[in-house]
Amino acid sequence: MSCLFCKIIAGEIPSAKVYEDEKVYAFKDINPQAPIHVLVIPREHIESADCVNAENSVSVSAVFEAIPKVAAACGLENGYRVITNVGEDGCQSVKHLHFHVLGGKKLPENMG
Ligand code: 5GP
Ligand code: ZN
Repeated sequence: MSCLFCKIIAGEIPSAKVYEDEKVYAFKDINPQAPIHVLVIPREHIESADCVNAENSVSVSAVFEAIPKVAAACGLENGYRVITNVGEDGCQSVKHLHFHVLGGKKLPENMG
């Protein structure tokens, strides 16, 4: 298995867990871009949002059901931002679908 986030899910690489359930794992980003920066990922390996389909979308809906729980666990009651980068132009560096949950301050309006 060569995927970094599959290794994190398997516990082969340590991570700071924030939340987990049967289909989802969430952990702190190693290089935070905001006071709170959590990555929420499906346990199922999906390369990116561009690879979501009818077979794997149950994992994606599970991620979105988990995000409010992650936000509550992190004290993000004043709001937050959810981002997923896709491919080269999206600057996706890890090819396992992940949603950045950012907050803990008023975030900049500009998203690129
Ligand atoms: P991307 O650039 O693909 O959208 O986001 C990948 C994210 O994974 C980056 O924000 C990066 O800091 C984070 N990251 C990369 N390697 C590790 C790691 O080993 N552990 C953790 N917790 N985060 C990582
Ligand atoms: Zn993976």
